[in-house]
Amino acid sequence: MTATPRIDVELDKIRHNTRILVQRLHPLGINVIGVTKAVCGHPEIAKAMLDGGARGLADARIGNVERMRQAGITAPIVMIRPPMLSQICEVTDACSSSYNSEFETIAALSAAAHRKRKTHRVILLIEMGDLRDGILPDDLDALVARIVDLPGISLKGIATNFACLGHKEPDHRTMAAFSALADDVESAHGPYMETVSGGSSVSLPWALGPFKKGRINELRLGEAILLGIHPLTGNPIPGLHTDAFSLKAEVIEAKVKTLSCSNSRFSRETPSLRLVPDHAESIRVNLAVGYQDTDIAGLTFPEGIVLAGATSDHTVVETNDRGIRPGNEVNTQPNYSALMRAMAAPDVSEVIHSACNASSRGPKGPIRPTPSLVAIDGGYE
Ligand SMILES: *Cc1c(COP(=O)(O)O)cnc(C)c1O
Repeated sequence: MTATPRIDVELDKIRHNTRILVQRLHPLGINVIGVTKAVCGHPEIAKAMLDGGARGLADARIGNVERMRQAGITAPIVMIRPPMLSQICEVTDACSSSYNSEFETIAALSAAAHRKRKTHRVILLIEMGDLRDGILPDDLDALVARIVDLPGISLKGIATNFACLGHKEPDHRTMAAFSALADDVESAHGPYMETVSGGSSVSLPWALGPFKKGRINELRLGEAILLGIHPLTGNPIPGLHTDAFSLKAEVIEAKVKTLSCSNSRFSRETPSLRLVPDHAESIRVNLAVGYQDTDIAGLTFPEGIVLAGATSDHTVVETNDRGIRPGNEVNTQPNYSALMRAMAAPDVSEVIHSACNASSRGPKGPIRPTPSLVAIDGGYE
């Protein structure tokens, strides 16, 4: 039997999603960078993004970047979380560029890169209203003046974030103001702003809308590529696959447990109380997956299965289906939060399916990618 909990990954769908987004954005002068943080820098998924036409990769954690480098990926990888001062050396070794908002960090990158006779590319992260990370536009000029002549680094562009902390979708005025900053930096200080990165999947409606793109020539896409949806609305993006990932969990208990059985059957005072009608007898099913493995609330269950609750190691669902027995697998669709936590969880294995081969990593060693075992309700595989 194949190990569970398990994430099945269909690489073809990731490649397809990347390709479609690249095809739509390229005519607008916008390059796609594939964001790998939700899949912990999984090298095969990163390669599928590159095969689909992504210009480069981006991640927020150095460990993920090193994993991709160790797997032989030589494409440019940008560190999109401003580097920690304690990881400057690793960042200059593994990343071609990084997003920055603090002078001290840029000075440390400069010193480290200079020592190694390298040039690290600096992208300045600009705060455009999300209030997570970034330089206030009013402070940009003074910061550029301080870093523009530092050795070991070259200022290559600007980037911004939307709807990371807040929920505000970028509007065309904000994008135009951001784009204008590229011109301002160039005219005041000289260096050409090669990269003007206008945000993540949340910027897609703006990019594909009727607005002028200005200087913006890049988007960093994670969720849109991986899950095929708009992050803010959850709506599918037409033409993309929304099921490149599925999370399988195994049934360890399936029993009828109704409130009527605990309350009314044994109560002399309320002999007529029946909270659950006979015909809708609910079966409670325990799955061997819990909060330690993923964001349970971020899982979508097949039709006819409803989440009742979860603990660190158990997930309880309700169904009317008497066919579900221990050993069966229940197939769920993870959202971004569930996906990223499952990909990082040590007890969740991954099985990579591609058109002609498959490989895996998991707590139980190599796993053969066999189809799952249950066929109930049409909701399973
Ligand atoms: C996570 C992240 C992205 C990608 O966001 P998606 O919503 O997955 O497209 C892009 N840029 C930065 C800085 C990020 O942290």
